[in-house]
Amino acid sequence: MIKDTIAAISSGLSESGIGIIRISGPESYDIIDRIFVNKSGKPVDLSEPNRIHYGFINDVSRETLDEVLVINMRSPHSYTGEDTIEIDCHGGVLMMKRVLEAVLSAGARAAEPGEFTRRAFLNGRMDLSRAEAVIDIINARNDNALKASGAQLRGKLSEKIRKLRSEILNDTAFIEAALDDPEHYSLEGFPEILLEHVRNWSGELEGLISTYDRGRIIKEGVETVIIGKPNAGKSSLLNAMLGEERAIVTHIPGTTRDTISESISVGGITLNLKDTAGIRETDDVVEEIGVKRAFTNAETADLVLCVFDLSEELERSDRDVLDFVKHIPGKLFIIFNKTDAEKRLDTEYILNYLPEGKRDHLFISAKDGLGIEELFSVIEKLFISGEVSFNDEVIISSVRHAGLLREAAASVSEVHNSIEAGLPEDFFTIDLMAAYTALGRIIGEDVSDDLVNEIFSRFCMGK
Ligand code: GDP
Repeated sequence: MIKDTIAAISSGLSESGIGIIRISGPESYDIIDRIFVNKSGKPVDLSEPNRIHYGFINDVSRETLDEVLVINMRSPHSYTGEDTIEIDCHGGVLMMKRVLEAVLSAGARAAEPGEFTRRAFLNGRMDLSRAEAVIDIINARNDNALKASGAQLRGKLSEKIRKLRSEILNDTAFIEAALDDPEHYSLEGFPEILLEHVRNWSGELEGLISTYDRGRIIKEGVETVIIGKPNAGKSSLLNAMLGEERAIVTHIPGTTRDTISESISVGGITLNLKDTAGIRETDDVVEEIGVKRAFTNAETADLVLCVFDLSEELERSDRDVLDFVKHIPGKLFIIFNKTDAEKRLDTEYILNYLPEGKRDHLFISAKDGLGIEELFSVIEKLFISGEVSFNDEVIISSVRHAGLLREAAASVSEVHNSIEAGLPEDFFTIDLMAAYTALGRIIGEDVSDDLVNEIFSRFCMGK
């Protein structure tokens, strides 16, 4: 049972118009009573819930700290399901801290990261997959991520999971009943019916699992590596994409020695970019480390942007790059840079050197920023094809959910095998219950405290 009352600054810790301090727990009202007064210094009547009250917050020595608005909510009608008070104070960092200190000295405990949402989950206000959507919304870095997590928060995933679970439970209960009471329930012809159900469940589970690749890219971004020979324009490309001068650009080959990581969101997609040292054989130890890292990063990347310099003829180092990228598992995109300069590169030779399906390319001028917008839209199409409308679509973006769905799918497929092998009915129920349990964990049933702790520790303070 939750007994103590927690408080935290729920708005960002930076200067802003309004700062919000949230208090949740059984003593919320007593705590606010001790520090909140009206114009004449008298306690404010908070007996009616869901009202906004004007007044002043005092510190322990009864000095006035700030002029505020207080919102009072009564259990269970609040985010956490507990008595909750929100204080809107002036949004200065120091002021928010002082008001929080006043609340803490009046009896509240400082909340841990994610503790409000954790209480919402423990008090049954939202299931685990919806609580997880809260953190995804806060962390969303592009429009698609926002839409996908919004659908999950509205319970779209939970709905599907609950429907599947109730169907599985129905069939399991029927088998159990028939085994216990064969006089009244007959299993005659039931395996055929169950087989039909199992096929539907498998289809639905596989459908959900198949959204995971897209979901992961939407939520976490495309791991992107830029490679190419020294001076091809990798740093310039990175800068053009970032829209600001971050990487060091020079005309001495090999100056981008270390990798620089940056994330950039354009429209519906986020790219996690790694600038890398030029690929070439080298005797320089530092350079060599950078080169190795470029190769390693490219091998595990979702997307490799491979830059060629249009103003120079094909060289040995270009060929080394080509030989390497031919075999990388991720998507390859060829960038012909320096369209503003005189063309000397045989681009047809390069494209024909690569296997079909690895010839996507674009001509750009990183220096003038030409072709960069097109590059973004081509990349978005490459990873998120078709019109994206997540309002009702369920997209799996959590590795935890994907794992549990795979577990459930494996159990359902075991049921399928048992039916086909003509095994007795009690064989079915074991796997049916395994699928039921795995699906339950997605919405937070039967999950360990450790897992709950782990999930909520990823939240920010005050949420
Ligand atoms: P990196 O070694 O591959 O990272 O190449 P840099 O980005 O450092 O660029 C190498 C040189 O090429 C620099 O002098 C850049 O100014 C120049 N450069 C980069 N992009 C372009 C471009 O689009 N046009 C022209 N003319 N020069 C460019």
